[in-house]
Amino acid sequence: MSKNKESKINIAYIDQEAVYDVTIIGGGAVGLFTTFYSGMRGLKTKLIEASRELGGKVTMGFPDKTISDIGGIKEITGQNLVKELVKQAKTFDPTIVCGQFISDLQPLENGNFRLISQTGEVHETRTIILTLGSGLIRPMKLEVDGVEYDGYHNLHYTVEEYGQFADKNVLISGGGDSAVDWADELHSIAKNITVVHRRDEFRAFENSVQKMKEQVDVLTPYTIKDVQNEKNYLTQVTLENLETGKIRDIEVDALLVNHGFSSELGGIKNWGLEMSEGQILVNDAMETNIPGIFAAGDVVTYPNKLNLFVAGFTEGPMAINSANGYLNHSSEPMAMYSTHHEKLYELTNR
Ligand SMILES: Cc1cc2nc3c(=O)[nH]c(=O)nc-3n(C[C@H](O)[C@H](O)[C@H](O)COP(=O)(O)OP(=O)(O)OC[C@H]3O[C@@H](n4cnc5c(N)ncnc54)[C@H](O)[C@@H]3O)c2cc1C
Repeated sequence: MSKNKESKINIAYIDQEAVYDVTIIGGGAVGLFTTFYSGMRGLKTKLIEASRELGGKVTMGFPDKTISDIGGIKEITGQNLVKELVKQAKTFDPTIVCGQFISDLQPLENGNFRLISQTGEVHETRTIILTLGSGLIRPMKLEVDGVEYDGYHNLHYTVEEYGQFADKNVLISGGGDSAVDWADELHSIAKNITVVHRRDEFRAFENSVQKMKEQVDVLTPYTIKDVQNEKNYLTQVTLENLETGKIRDIEVDALLVNHGFSSELGGIKNWGLEMSEGQILVNDAMETNIPGIFAAGDVVTYPNKLNLFVAGFTEGPMAINSANGYLNHSSEPMAMYSTHHEKLYELTNR
């Protein structure tokens, strides 16, 4: 837990009105559903997400993949699941904050917690639910000397808009699902696509790899050695053949780097939470070893834990029931039915 932060924070600026019953840290699938359930239990709820976008590893890693193992939903794409979860999470009008990576915790004398983001924002809350997944997920940076993460206007790590690649000479670097899928997807709108990968084998569905090889130029085993630019626009990329050492330059209008993801839990690792192999240990009520702090989803571990949506969608409500019991000692853990929820009834005009 962080100490000696007091001097950096002016307590007078903390709006006491803005003390929340529950603050959920992590806006992935589990954090979003937990936010909804917290609202169902009538708790004043805030959700804080480090990225600019909600949805966690679904948004980052597999927005276009089809998910078929959530009860009652035969098939749904990752991005549609996130869209529905966000809509559901907003039902009871929680506060949702994006772009803040929470790193420090200060227990306060009144029993509340103060949370501090890496960029200095402060939040006060009575309980905390950690739905951190694997931590903050970031695409792996292009490892070329002198290249900054977002140093060029036409260097991309994700496809935010197809238009950015229309009629362009696009170089895609990577050998996994994302690189192969984007090559197949952008092929119809780009002028030309070249895929460069350091190995001859690709880690993706065989059909997709086959389609890619038929449709676009594939260079293996090559790696990006250097880049040239004009006014912060990449113009040319220098490739090196890893077997022969042969160098080759290709002109680019856009470079898409899909080298996988890295993730980090950051300062939360120092809060004094009991961990096991990078995950937070919880009991069968989703309580951590720190009273008032609960956890759910991929970040937790307990015997027979499953890293599945359905597991997190159960753990979230369990964590909220425990937080509710912590706040209001007379409250029994209970399964609250949405079918018999008066406020939900009003809000959805049923
Ligand atoms: C390729 C792949 C395919 C999968 N397919 C399936 C499937 O078909 N069916 C299934 O049931 N499961 C599947 N899963 C598992 C499923 O995706 C996860 O169980 C689920 O997404 C976990 O959600 P989460 O909210 O716990 O974590 P995450 O999605 O990882 O979300 C955690 C969020 O917390 C944020 N965060 C972390 N630290 C902080 C901090 N300090 N401050 C603020 N925010 C923070 C992160 O930015 C992130 O947005 C798959 C997983 C992968 C990787």
